[in-house]
Amino acid sequence: MKTAIVWFKTDLRLTDNEVLLKAISQSDSIVPVYCFEDAHFETTPYGFKKTGDFRAQFLMESLIDLDANLRALGSGLIILKGKPEIEIPKIVKQYRAAKVYAKREVAFEEKQLETLVQSELWKIKCELLTLSTSTLYHAEDLPFSIKDIPDVFTNFRKKIEKDSVIRVSLEKPSTIKSPEIPKLELPDLKELGLKKVKIDKRAAIAFKGGESQALKRLDYYFFKTKSISNYKDTRNGMVGADYSSKFSAWLALGCISPRHIYQELQKYESLHTANESTYWLVFELLWRDYFRFMMKKHQNKFFQKNGIKSTDSGVKKVNIEQLQNWINGKTGVDFIDANMIELKLTGFMSNRGRQNVASYLCNDLKLDWRYGAAYFEQQLIDYDVCSNWGNWSYVAGVGNDPRGNRYFNIDKQASDYDKNKSFRNLWLKD
Ligand SMILES: Cc1cc2nc3c(=O)[nH]c(=O)nc-3n(C[C@H](O)[C@H](O)[C@H](O)COP(=O)(O)OP(=O)(O)OC[C@H]3O[C@@H](n4cnc5c(N)ncnc54)[C@H](O)[C@@H]3O)c2cc1C
Repeated sequence: MKTAIVWFKTDLRLTDNEVLLKAISQSDSIVPVYCFEDAHFETTPYGFKKTGDFRAQFLMESLIDLDANLRALGSGLIILKGKPEIEIPKIVKQYRAAKVYAKREVAFEEKQLETLVQSELWKIKCELLTLSTSTLYHAEDLPFSIKDIPDVFTNFRKKIEKDSVIRVSLEKPSTIKSPEIPKLELPDLKELGLKKVKIDKRAAIAFKGGESQALKRLDYYFFKTKSISNYKDTRNGMVGADYSSKFSAWLALGCISPRHIYQELQKYESLHTANESTYWLVFELLWRDYFRFMMKKHQNKFFQKNGIKSTDSGVKKVNIEQLQNWINGKTGVDFIDANMIELKLTGFMSNRGRQNVASYLCNDLKLDWRYGAAYFEQQLIDYDVCSNWGNWSYVAGVGNDPRGNRYFNIDKQASDYDKNKSFRNLWLKD
């Protein structure tokens, strides 16, 4: 009997999951596992938790859904907790597995962990097989080597759109052979140093984790409401569920793949309409790809003060009082405060809001941008290492913005994007 471990990380889905499919096709039986990594629940040097309450809750929901979907096919999910370099080899020994299959990482810490797990597995003669499963364009189909990927998004986009193709989304397996998998046992939020949160009723959307919910949202945003047909005009909105897709949280945990979204978009285009809006969603998903490939190219630079630039960014030390006022929505600038309160009470903020509060922290308060990025890391329900640190460094002028030091005039932004103050009134009036 050839048994393999499938190590789920931020790919909590059955559809379009090449890791899962490959493990099934190359083994007699598989054991799906997820590991609550100690490091994910620590406090960072910036003083924030790596995982906050909102995302932890979303993660739990996603795991419950994944377990249920696996069980429907004859398998189930085993939960581990601790250090993966210890826990993964333990489960390998327990099931006498010959191989571990997992998603390939790109970000610095994740990559380091991958290497560590791989070397621990080698010691017990077990192979770690990793595959790239997060992007719209497959890493192997890029028309340039990683070191030659253009540092300017437009150049990247034009070349990839011309010279590459998007692979098809893979069907979910029809059945899975596994040994008997014990009932799902999730850690308590308290055990992780977190608490169950009640999301404010003004939240743009009631996010619920899991692949089933992701597919439901996609169906709603595309086929039920056809909101996608107006996406380009509405995407800079700030109030309500449908001004943008809200796919981000599910994408971040891999409850849905960008390729699957693309495939459904193509169906939508052939059934209904193909217009600038339907294309624009692909354009935005390309930004997501871009930051992923950039992270692979520049590695830990995205976490350093000067980012990918060689010049000194000139950021000052952080002023704790100013930082706290920013976090608590007490800067006195109503547009910034409304956005920061939304983030604090819901774990979400619109893209327009994120750009403004980030620019305010970097350009007006002139604080070290990494504190802002670290707070987002704790707070965002859709936190994604590449998108977050990539966007923050971009706004801070130390990333991929060819213009550098992009300054957002907050008053102008507020009057352009919240003309009748409906967003500010929603969050600033009790
Ligand atoms: C400072 C800052 C921090 C950010 N941190 C994150 C983060 O941690 N996680 C995250 O998913 N996004 C992040 N973003 C990008 C963007 O704000 C969110 O993806 C978007 O607001 C999520 O809402 P949506 O799914 O409705 O987006 P939509 O407008 O519907 O876009 C569809 C999808 O395209 C992708 N996308 C859109 N804009 C961007 C972008 N600028 N960069 C990368 N991908 C993009 C996302 O996957 C998104 O779900 C950040 C942006 C800024 C300015």
